Amino acid sequence: MKPQKVVIIGAGMIGLATAWHLQERGVTVTVVDRKGVAAGSSWGNAGWLTPALTLPLGEPSMLVAGPWQLVKPTSPLYVPMNPRLIPFLTGFAWHSLPKQWKKSISIFAKVNPLAMDAFHEFTAGGVKGEVKLADPFLAGFRTEKDRGGLIHEFEVVEQSGGTVDYDLVTGDELRAIEPTLSDGVKAGVLLRDQWFINPPLYAESLADSVRERGGTITDGFDVVDVRDTGNGAEVVSATGDVISGDAVVIATGSWLGRLARRFGVKAIVQAGRGYSFSVKPEVMPTHPIYFPHERLACTPLGDRLRIGGMMEFKPVDAAPDPRRIKLLVETAKPVFQGIDWEQREEEWVGGRPVTTDGHALIGPTKSPRVFVGGGHGMWGIALGPLTGRLLAGSILGEPDPVLEHFNPLR
Ligand SMILES: Cc1cc2nc3c(=O)[nH]c(=O)nc-3n(C[C@H](O)[C@H](O)[C@H](O)COP(=O)(O)OP(=O)(O)OC[C@H]3O[C@@H](n4cnc5c(N)ncnc54)[C@H](O)[C@@H]3O)c2cc1C
Repeated sequence: MKPQKVVIIGAGMIGLATAWHLQERGVTVTVVDRKGVAAGSSWGNAGWLTPALTLPLGEPSMLVAGPWQLVKPTSPLYVPMNPRLIPFLTGFAWHSLPKQWKKSISIFAKVNPLAMDAFHEFTAGGVKGEVKLADPFLAGFRTEKDRGGLIHEFEVVEQSGGTVDYDLVTGDELRAIEPTLSDGVKAGVLLRDQWFINPPLYAESLADSVRERGGTITDGFDVVDVRDTGNGAEVVSATGDVISGDAVVIATGSWLGRLARRFGVKAIVQAGRGYSFSVKPEVMPTHPIYFPHERLACTPLGDRLRIGGMMEFKPVDAAPDPRRIKLLVETAKPVFQGIDWEQREEEWVGGRPVTTDGHALIGPTKSPRVFVGGGHGMWGIALGPLTGRLLAGSILGEPDPVLEHFNPLR
């Protein structure tokens, strides 16, 4: 029998998108979160919906950088020396080899063209959050040589069946579009057909839409147990409260393994922690700007510019490391002008839910009543609405064939 009532754990992009799509198909939903809407990485991210850049995190150049780069606390990709990370790092390194990387890109090439359509479906269905065309999306480089890495990625995407529409420009041409870029930016790329959102506002608007359609979102419900009761499933909170349904979805981002492991999900979901903050430039940019070499993601959100980056493989709940914010500032300073870096606000850390093979976990577990949605790493916002649609189909017994790549029991 098709589920009539589903309980979803996690009010991030994946949990909310799944709730919305279940409602679309007549299912009653209850979303619970240990804190509230967008309490995890769905808050402080860059909000990019960029099919051209939606690629696996692990890639060959990371291996070339060498392990000594990774253990330096000042590295933008920081791996503390911790033996518990060895299984994750071994799998991650294997999937970063050129052959695996290309295979992985071909899977992204299948889903990326569907991702924007899923956002437009939300808009048509009454989600009020604004989805903006970047027109164009900018990438900046301090040397022409640095630009070569991104162009190589685009070539591999095109060989794998994807398309990327871009133009190469000089630093001056880039500055003519965004005067807040400094003279240190010597080369650029203009990317067409890329989009962006304001992540906190968008998550709230999606949550509003779920509530308006009759769904319940319960904050402060910290799930400590999920049970398959034989004819349904239930979640149990730290205070002993129980909510029952016909099925349960675990969409808990970087915390996914804790509840999903007992249902046969062995894939490691490791927090790849990123940091962000916002500033108010003298001349406010209107386009998102990416610095691939520096791994900096900059997005105009209202009257402030959010600057994010870093990848720190630490426990998701570890205290924020102030050195990371300092490093982000020092990395951003040479590529911008007219910014008072002392007037930073909204300093934030959040864990990208990273799998070793770079692909999400979407579908049933070994229990037919317990499902998972998560593990999207760097791309859970861009792929969130599509994931919600795919997962709702799977829960209702109509799995899309593309889900073979995202089997949670792989
Ligand atoms: C700096 C940075 C920049 C990024 N930029 C982009 C970008 O531009 N585009 C993009 O597509 N992606 C981006 N990402 C990645 C994106 O943010 C994530 O992939 C996405 O937010 C994951 O969503 P989620 O719903 O799976 O997890 P989360 O948003 O982390 O949500 C999980 C929720 O589960 C709740 N929870 C956890 N455990 C429990 C429990 N036991 N009981 C109840 N509730 C629980 C948490 O409170 C949380 O609200 C970025 C990430 C970072 C860190």
